[in-house]
Amino acid sequence: MTLETKACRCCGKEFTPKSVVQKYCSRRCGKRYRKEHDINADWEPVTFVCAFCGAEVKTTGSVSDRRIRYCSERCAKKYWGVRDKRKPKPDFRDY
Ligand SMILES: [Zn+2]
Ligand SMILES: [Zn+2]
Repeated sequence: MTLETKACRCCGKEFTPKSVVQKYCSRRCGKRYRKEHDINADWEPVTFVCAFCGAEVKTTGSVSDRRIRYCSERCAKKYWGVRDKRKPKPDFRDY
């Protein structure tokens, strides 16, 4: 899946996001933005396809719904369970 370039929410610079939820060109911009705004403003509903089962997922946009890669924790665990053991441990903020 190729992601379209976006304008950084903080400085307005164009960048190519690495994930559907990336909104800033750099960590520094994200930090700066969150310092000046409500941190909850960073979470919006997103639509993506689960990397394990292929289901289309729409997040609620609430702070507790931080899925960006898998439809459920079950899929995240299964996905990582079949991965090469040398791979890094799953980051559960990713599921
Ligand atoms: Zn920026
Ligand atoms: Zn899934």
